[in-house]
Amino acid sequence: MPNFSELKFLMMLMRILEDSSPIRTTVLSRKIGIKPPSVVEYLQRLEHRRMVKRLKWKETLLTVKGKRVAKSLLHNHRVLEIYFVTFLNLDEETACKEASKIDFCVGQKTINAMCKLLNYPRRCFHEKEVYHENCM
Ligand SMILES: [Zn+2]
Ligand SMILES: [Zn+2]
Repeated sequence: MPNFSELKFLMMLMRILEDSSPIRTTVLSRKIGIKPPSVVEYLQRLEHRRMVKRLKWKETLLTVKGKRVAKSLLHNHRVLEIYFVTFLNLDEETACKEASKIDFCVGQKTINAMCKLLNYPRRCFHEKEVYHENCM
């Protein structure tokens, strides 16, 4: 199983793809504030898990498996975020921060129940898609 930091990294890759930008080591390094060699190491670990495919010219793609896992993680993050804003009246930025602290810890059944209560929102507050493949 990938560890938490690998999964966080995978989520970041998917977010970059959602912005339709190519995944490049230098961009990643700047975005997450870790050095390019560490970025490469993460990419290699995820490649070993068949979640990413590294091409020439330092560009990286997500595999079908990588996308499936990333979408499920982003679903959970975004559902928590929307839940916090809708039911707890947190502001969006705080909701995002709080969700990031626990999005890997809350069980899938709980998240799915929250999602149902929210009536399966299609978009989060940042206008990003909420992927429900795993929750309906
Ligand atoms: Zn967020
Ligand atoms: Zn859902």
